[in-house]
Amino acid sequence: MKEEAYENVEERLRASYEKIRKSYRNGLAVVAVERDACGGCFNAIPPQKQSEIKQHKKVMICENCGRILVDEELHNSVEIK
Ligand SMILES: [Zn+2]
Repeated sequence: MKEEAYENVEERLRASYEKIRKSYRNGLAVVAVERDACGGCFNAIPPQKQSEIKQHKKVMICENCGRILVDEELHNSVEIK
């Protein structure tokens, strides 16, 4: 049961993430968290926020540059053709 619910959240987030990426063809609107920092502006991301990003609970926005933050795994799993 728990796993199923988790997967549903994952699916929904992935779908919205793909939609977002497709609407921004330059791909700059969505960045991965790299080395504890925003991959777009290199603003440091607090550990608590990072764990929320990793849990895929909600879409997190970088407070500094306004880009959408995702963990690297999700970022790499979505391919835009
Ligand atoms: Zn940023």
